[in-house]
Amino acid sequence: MSGFPRARAKCLALWATTSAIFFVDTFTELNVAVAVLYVLVIMMAMDTCSIRGLRRVALTCAVLTAAGFFVSHHEHPFSAALARCLVSLTAIGIATWLALKNRRTSDELQKQFSLLAHTHDVEAQLHRAQIELAHICRNTTMGELSASIAHEVNQPLAAITSSAEAAQRWLDRPVPDLKEAGAAIARAASNARRAAEVIKRIRDLTRKSDPHYEELDLQSVVADSLALLEREIQSHQVRLLCTFARHSPKVSGDRIQLQQVVINLIINSLHAMSGHRDSPGELHVGVYWQEDRAVVRVHDNGPGIDQQHLALLFDAFFTTKEDGMGIGLSICRSIIELHGGSIRADSQPNQGATFSFSLPLSTANSQPSS
Ligand code: ADP
Repeated sequence: MSGFPRARAKCLALWATTSAIFFVDTFTELNVAVAVLYVLVIMMAMDTCSIRGLRRVALTCAVLTAAGFFVSHHEHPFSAALARCLVSLTAIGIATWLALKNRRTSDELQKQFSLLAHTHDVEAQLHRAQIELAHICRNTTMGELSASIAHEVNQPLAAITSSAEAAQRWLDRPVPDLKEAGAAIARAASNARRAAEVIKRIRDLTRKSDPHYEELDLQSVVADSLALLEREIQSHQVRLLCTFARHSPKVSGDRIQLQQVVINLIINSLHAMSGHRDSPGELHVGVYWQEDRAVVRVHDNGPGIDQQHLALLFDAFFTTKEDGMGIGLSICRSIIELHGGSIRADSQPNQGATFSFSLPLSTANSQPSS
């Protein structure tokens, strides 16, 4: 049965029951409070009618109870029948009150539920937008790094060519030197692997995919990011100093997203240092254990950050650069917070800037160490 005929059938059943009760109550000589059965009608109406409709049904039941009493007992109104009529009216009143209360509660629940569903929908959309934005930012970053990346891939390719040519020469000799030729081919193969690794890292970073949470060795995340930026760091003539813990902390997270954060922080440092050439650029990148957290710290000896800007850095669209968009750090913060961590910036006068983020350690960490 479709929705409309079912509602119609319920309505018909409601009126049929009402009429039957009225008939039995008014035209039979039963010495019982038949009108109490109107409670059934009210219960039936609770599902089908609106609050207004329910009130109307209850009023009709009360009027019919009174009418039935007057029709059948108008000659002797003050009898046991009056008590039965009053009992019935009281039962109708109580049933109506309960039905209305129930109806209001379920309406309120339904409202809350649809509000919740809507909020959930908005949250899901927001989450998708964040993923999209993070992906766009990664591609923008990769665009900025294209010159370094091209160089990074070119180097092994050039090495492959020269190793292949060397192998050819060893083989073309009147007495081919197979040992040397083999060594040259091994060098070519190792360079080919290096090129493939660089390309894989770039492909992973530019791939558009949903976050994939897994057990991660945090130091390898940082090392992979540094490998991608190696050329960029060199071209900015910045000295890189790394401090890695003896045992790498393990965290649960999305490798690509966490790499994005590290890359973003390092590129910001490189930009800051390139506009500030009082001293040779120095970049410190470290991974540490801190109680139940793993910490990544990026420190540079650039111009540092104005104290009044410190509180605004992670707000969307805050930038002090002429061509800046001001969304890099706000994406970093949302990524880190999604991982249950926190990110902060510190800067003391003439001591550059320090950005650090901490993440909860995963349960796979067996032996905390310095
Ligand atoms: P954008 O790089 O487009 O400006 P970000 O959100 O990445 O956007 O950075 C916001 C601002 O934070 C930058 O404009 C800059 O003022 C400041 N900032 C970030 N990193 C550093 C740093 N290492 N040293 C000094 N200032 C920084």
